[in-house]
Amino acid sequence: MVVGAGGGKVLDTVRAVASELELPVVNCPTIASSDSPCSALSVVYTPEGEFAEYVFYPRDPDLVLVDTAVVARAPLRLLVAGLGDALATWFEARTVIEARSPNQLGGATTIAAGALAKLCCDTLLEDGVAACRAVEARSVTPALERIVEANTLLSGLGFESGGLAVAHSVHNGLTELRQTHSFLHGEKVSFGLLVQLVLEGKPTAEIERVLRFQTDVGLPVTLEQVGVKKPSDEDVGQIAQRTVAEDETAHHEPFEVTAAKVFDAVRAADAIGRAWRTHAGRG
Ligand SMILES: [Zn+2]
Repeated sequence: MVVGAGGGKVLDTVRAVASELELPVVNCPTIASSDSPCSALSVVYTPEGEFAEYVFYPRDPDLVLVDTAVVARAPLRLLVAGLGDALATWFEARTVIEARSPNQLGGATTIAAGALAKLCCDTLLEDGVAACRAVEARSVTPALERIVEANTLLSGLGFESGGLAVAHSVHNGLTELRQTHSFLHGEKVSFGLLVQLVLEGKPTAEIERVLRFQTDVGLPVTLEQVGVKKPSDEDVGQIAQRTVAEDETAHHEPFEVTAAKVFDAVRAADAIGRAWRTHAGRG
């Protein structure tokens, strides 16, 4: 078997190697920064750091083993990024279920997948902030253990069997801009989720509920917070074009998703995020 211990890129590589050698694979995530450890896919980037493709494998890892005492000693930013990746899970799965689009395995979604994705979201809203405080104190608490399960297992099953939509495509779009490369997957997904909710025309109350959680745990809600300072129309256009590339999960929405619509949603989401931060700053 092939055993990998480390962060997302290490485990993505280990799954690729195991698949190539047709060997069982064990993933031991040392951080809870994304939902990839339980999945049967790897995200492949170009040497420049741009999203290249998803590579799918015939089976999920044979064992995923997480020591929460190790996760508790990792930098807080990594756990927060995992919250960003996991936060999008329910909203993307809900879209895929409503649109009757295919999940990440090319199959139909199930009510079980939807329920796991919803449980993931509820767990974050309930325990996310407390888990951040636990990691700041380098402590293992029941809240942290539940968040590790949500970030790793619930989000992993939720996205794979529930499906992805615009949020992850915007993440891929953001990777087109070099200035976003030092930001983590879940941080870019966090802003992508905001874009998705704006694009879908969700009620302000729901958007604000998401914004409140994102701000409380320190997730990005503006372009500047993922490295794009003073975004030009060209920058936003580049993000929008990549977001709607062929095969992107943005096309899992129940309506046609065009670059023009994404362009406007990115601009509007950024404005909403900036206004929210200004408001939050005033207390
Ligand atoms: Zn993700």
